[in-house]
Parts: sequence; C-alpha cells; structure tokens
Amino acid sequence: MPHLSRTIFHVDMDAFFVSVEELFDPSLKGKPVIVGGQRHERGVVSAASYEARKFGVHSAMPLRTAAKLCPQAIFVDGHPDRYRECSERARRVLSSFSPQVEMVSIDEAYLDMTATERLHGPPLLAAHKLHEKMKAETDLNCSIGIGASRLIAKVCSGKAKPNGVLYIVPGREAKFLAPLDVREIPGVGKVSEQKLHALGIRKVGDLAKYDDSDLEQQFGKWGVALAGKARGEDAGAWFEGEIGADEGAKSIGHEHTYDQDTANVAQLEATLMRLSEMVGRRLRENQLRARTLQLKLRYKDFTTITRAHSVDLPTQLDNEIFQHIQRLFHANWRRGAEVRLLGVQASHFGQGSPQLDFLEDQAGEKWEHALSAADRLRDKFGEGAITLGTGMKGGFRERTHENPAALPGKSKRSEA
Ligand SMILES: [Mg+2]
Repeated sequence: MPHLSRTIFHVDMDAFFVSVEELFDPSLKGKPVIVGGQRHERGVVSAASYEARKFGVHSAMPLRTAAKLCPQAIFVDGHPDRYRECSERARRVLSSFSPQVEMVSIDEAYLDMTATERLHGPPLLAAHKLHEKMKAETDLNCSIGIGASRLIAKVCSGKAKPNGVLYIVPGREAKFLAPLDVREIPGVGKVSEQKLHALGIRKVGDLAKYDDSDLEQQFGKWGVALAGKARGEDAGAWFEGEIGADEGAKSIGHEHTYDQDTANVAQLEATLMRLSEMVGRRLRENQLRARTLQLKLRYKDFTTITRAHSVDLPTQLDNEIFQHIQRLFHANWRRGAEVRLLGVQASHFGQGSPQLDFLEDQAGEKWEHALSAADRLRDKFGEGAITLGTGMKGGFRERTHENPAALPGKSKRSEA
C-alpha cells in the first residue's frame, strides 16, 4: 500500500430528488414532499423530504401507504433529466477536489482525498470547501463522511445528515462503530443480520469481540470480511454478499411486463434504462463483466424477438449496457408497435475486475463509474417516471438479497 492511511470522503447529496424539485419549485420547501408518483398510483416512493419522513414515509414504500401516513404530502412524479443534470454538475464539483471520484449512485460518490492536503488542506477544511463549492455550483446541500476507509466514510456521511461533516480520525474506527447495529455496516443485509442476531451479535461491537476464526467458521470467507468490517476496514465485498450462494449462473437478466402495452418511446427507453441499471448493478455486485448483451422484446400480440450484441470490452456499467441495448431496441423495434414486455440480459462473463476497491483501481475506470451514475437514478427514482409495474423495484431488491442462489460468483466476491 502506498499510504499508511488513506483519506476517503463519502459525499451524499441531501434528499437529492426532493432538493432538485425544490430548486424548480421553491414553494415545496419545508413541506412534506413525496417523489415517485401520485398518491393513488400503484408505484413506490422514490424519495421523500425530511418533513415527509417524519411521518414514517420512506423510499420504496408504496405510494398509497405513504398517502395514508402523510395525507397532506405533496406528490410529484419527478424529473429524471433534472436529476441527471444536477448529478453531473455535482460530479464536476467533486472532480475538482480529487481525480479519483467514484460515483456510486446518482447522488453519492467516494473521493480518494489521500495526499491532497497541500492542495485542499486537512480533511475538515477540504470538506468545508467542498460544501461551499457544492452549494455555489449546484445550489444543493450534501453530507460528507470522512475516514480511512470507504466503509467508515459511508457510515459517517449517514450520521452527518443533513448538510454536515463527520470525520473519524484513523485509529478511532472500532470505537465509533461499536455501538451501531450490525445492519448499519454497509454490506450487511437482511440475511446476514438475521444470522448475526441468531449468534447474539446485535451491535458492531459484539461482532468485533467475536473471534475472526469463529466468524469464518460460521460465515466462511464472508465471516472474515465481516470481522474486518467491524474494525472499519474495507474488508471483502463492499456490496451485500450473503453466504450460501450458488456459483456459475450463465446470465443475469431482468424483464418487465407492462400493465398496459405501450408504444411510448420515452417510456420504453426509461424501462430499458432501468433494466440496464438492474443488470449492471448485479454484475457489479458479483464482480462480473459481460461480453454479450441481449434485448428481449415482446409485442402486444406476443410475438417475441431477442437480439444480442457482443461488446469488445466486457462491461458491468449501466451506461454502456444501456447504450448497446438502446441501439438494439431502435434497430429492431417496429416503430409505433405496442410493446408488452422488455428484457435486458447479460451473459458470457469475463473475468471480474481483480480489485473491487476503486482505490486500487487506476484512472480510466473512475470516469466510467462516474458516467454510470446517470443511469443509476432509475434505481432510486422508481416507478412513477418509468411506469414499472407494482412492486417491481421491491421485487428486484428481494430477489437480489433473498435468493442469492440465483446469483453467481458469491464466493469469488468475498475473496476480494
Ligand atoms: Mg443522498
């Protein structure tokens, strides 16, 4: 390792979608606002203002449930183009602080700020400057977590919300993490949480007290990663990885059937983008890159076509997947014909990146990562804008986390 201690920033925009909506309609400020669709629709909440959250509204909750909890809320469909534009502006601000920026979603990024002191000053001063520049350039607030690992930085930004900074100086990681619920460790999902609880491990401190070898016995390689995470290290898989996964899936794909057949290009493209994002995310979660991308298109009359494209460089990036799929779509769709189902599939996996850790990664890929952020908004943005069927987003999440047998490469991931 070139540095004894790294300085990582995790920058997370505060209530991003809602804040962007407020820029265009200041009358929304200070009100309970719910983005994702209208109160009677079947979709889910993609974002809620802090005022709405006070009523228990949270993202991924059905809109109708949100309407019951917070009847006075203002429901807005949302504006993906605006979010993308603001995200790009935010990315440019971040890039002026570090050449190593990894956008991990539309509104959050990791920055490697190691050895930038001469340029930006010590971490807290740099964070202060970043806050100010972000506000000046985007008119948006963000929260900044700082630590020696991505894990610490990520947890810190969550604790710093809204519009705050939290810095855990190197050496204090375990103390900081100890009182937190194990679920607060990024990468610990529902399944891991349940297993940890069954062992009497509820707090990160409990986990840290556990013997590494006992954890390995219980969880295999994931246990080793957990032990490291409890100390605040970027140990093992960053993304949620559960044990007991089946190896060797041949493809990763997602499909969507419309409630009502559609020939609306914007809607069809939005769905393809969302599906590309879902596929991309699963590729990254499994450290896979696909050589073949396939579009599936079913018309109203059930005629179905599949068209595949092989890429020169295996990819795991939403943006790239979407671009190929979009091209396939426009080359093959009978313009104006109503579509019943769309699917995106990735296959012919190449070697995953040897390093999941972007810090070990070199320049080119960071920019690719940054570009992919544009698509990832679909994940948060949800159904209001792209008219996915009820619970599709939730369904995807459940499948990802609760049916790990369908996912390849799990053990490979935990070795990272
Ligand atoms: Mg955010």
